[in-house]
Amino acid sequence: MAVRSFCTTNISTQHHGYAAKFHVSSSLSLTNSHMWSSTTARNSKNKCAQSLVNTVVLPSISSTPLESLHRGNWIKLICGASFEDVVDIRNLSLVYTLAGVDCIDCAADASVVSAVNEGIEAARDIVCLRRPWVMISVNDDKDLHFRKAEFDPEDCPADCSRPCESVCPANAISFQGKSTLGISYNTEAPRVLKDGVITERCYGCGRCLPVCPYDKIREVTYVRDAITTADLIKRNDVDAMEIHTSGRQSTLFKELWSALGDSVGNLRLIALDGRPMSGDIGRGATKESIGFAVQLAKAKERPPGFLQLAGGTNAHTIDGLKKEGLFQTTITEYSHDDTSTISSSDSSHALISGIAYGGYARKIVGRVLRSMQSQHGGSASVEDHPEHLLMALKEALALVGPVKCL
Ligand code: SF4
Ligand code: SF4
Repeated sequence: MAVRSFCTTNISTQHHGYAAKFHVSSSLSLTNSHMWSSTTARNSKNKCAQSLVNTVVLPSISSTPLESLHRGNWIKLICGASFEDVVDIRNLSLVYTLAGVDCIDCAADASVVSAVNEGIEAARDIVCLRRPWVMISVNDDKDLHFRKAEFDPEDCPADCSRPCESVCPANAISFQGKSTLGISYNTEAPRVLKDGVITERCYGCGRCLPVCPYDKIREVTYVRDAITTADLIKRNDVDAMEIHTSGRQSTLFKELWSALGDSVGNLRLIALDGRPMSGDIGRGATKESIGFAVQLAKAKERPPGFLQLAGGTNAHTIDGLKKEGLFQTTITEYSHDDTSTISSSDSSHALISGIAYGGYARKIVGRVLRSMQSQHGGSASVEDHPEHLLMALKEALALVGPVKCL
């Protein structure tokens, strides 16, 4: 399924001590000293990053994530329910926070959540932005989002041309010292190049499975532990949760919900999701997801809450949705007391509240991160290399801009 249904819970404009205090000018005249945090002013590296970021036109980010849902211009970065490379996750979170996403979705793992929050705070040290929500992804049963590929490279024939390595979109398959992709990780860094599948980078897309001519690759599925998830939600840096469920086994869903207990009261948003789709493989993927949205628009009964298009999304998605009259035709006015009033809607089919970008978003910024890592080592922080930060930010803005700057 390519559309996710949100139900809001416990929504407040004040959370984790932050309020709607940001404003990035659409013309980016970032000369007002209030725009910069005091931490940044003391940091010469960040000053350099600020100067370069200052040359890019950032979208006006004047809405809270909840307001973005109401306005129909919500945008989420999906790091991946199984992607656990904390260096990449931190850098992606930094870049997409600067670009103006409303939410960052990640694996329900303590280290990963910390990496997302570190990236967000590093971005906010460069430009004083509002904090995007952090969402964790969990499952109640076997689900394609929650799997890893695995094989023993010692079993591989020496003359294999390694199609597994070249097909992997996450650079998660490598052979020590023999990478055909030319990516070398800094051996001084904690991410040492390993033979076979680099588990933390594998997000379970499954593309390597059918290409192995010797059938050496297995998939390993897992279910996130509900008690661990509940503990994670109780931290003060998780705002939302996405539950991956097939909907066929209500017993399993009830068991998960029961194990999460009171922790869900800490959340601002709960989302449901189904089948995964990949947007990084081209225009065809987005056609399928838009087709699903069109069918949903015609349905007499739709899921309650906000609907977000996710899966198969890429640079073509917004244009496709607009052609179908399904995107941003609802205008919402806001009053000072944070109550909202829908003032007009020019299409009964304008049902999409926002877009989530996963594989495609990671791919376009990931290219820049790989280039940075090949020059500066696998653990490089993107804000320490402003020229790469600028390139990454331009890529991210090309995706976020059409959603935010209408
Ligand atoms: S499942 Fe996907 S991400 Fe994982 S190793 Fe295979 S191709 Fe790479
Ligand atoms: S394609 Fe199969 S046999 Fe060849 S290197 Fe990859 S896992 Fe090994």
